[in-house]
Amino acid sequence: MTTRRKLVVGNWKMHGTHKANAELFEGLLAAGPSNADVAVCVPFPFLAEAAVALAASDVRWGAQDCSAHEQGAYTGEVSCGMLHEFGCRYVIVGHSERRAYHAESDQLVADKAKAALAKGVTPIVCVGETLAQRESGETEAVVKRQLSAVIHTLGHCVGEMVVAYEPVWAIGTGKTASPEQAQAVHALLRAQLQAATPHAAAMKILYGGSVKPDNAATLFAQPDIDGGLIGGASLKAADFVAICRAAP
Ligand code: PEP
Repeated sequence: MTTRRKLVVGNWKMHGTHKANAELFEGLLAAGPSNADVAVCVPFPFLAEAAVALAASDVRWGAQDCSAHEQGAYTGEVSCGMLHEFGCRYVIVGHSERRAYHAESDQLVADKAKAALAKGVTPIVCVGETLAQRESGETEAVVKRQLSAVIHTLGHCVGEMVVAYEPVWAIGTGKTASPEQAQAVHALLRAQLQAATPHAAAMKILYGGSVKPDNAATLFAQPDIDGGLIGGASLKAADFVAICRAAP
């Protein structure tokens, strides 16, 4: 059996100030190492700050979105080459907030993941169903369709991405998926990856959606849950550190 080291990634979303960031970085650095690999995905303007604060630590940093284009007349967009220059290890692509508020299609998300890998930045590809889709029994079809676009676009590089299962109804709502509900979807995603790449057993599939210090350990104990993508709870150093420490 493959042992996968857990990965815990904070998604700060559109939060942060110089003062609040400094306190958060300090809290993370003071906590020292955990059993998990740890990263924070910060807003673009704070990447330089993250690079300076975290460079000498084991904590990695990344962004929350990227352009699918390499460069050019794309006002307001940020390329993966730029993220690479700022030392980003990860970039979140296809977060449900971007799919919903910016009408990002499955193919655009896949193109962004490809652009990231081309520059040596690991994409964290988010998939997940809405409440209406879950209630109408479409969960499997939705996450399969979302992942399938990425698998086809990445080709032989599929094994290099990180996948995050984030049920939309669990994000920021306090309604965490039960460990069994999450594991069931993670197993489906793993099976889909297995059909696409010989590296599927080593790939990380994170769970995201109201992960808190008191539910992280049971989620992380599931066989196909390889860590978490953490929104709200990543904004409080003590909570984020407690979640990282929940990794066995
Ligand atoms: C997220 O933004 O990816 C997320 C999972 O948010 P929260 O932890 O707040 O539900």
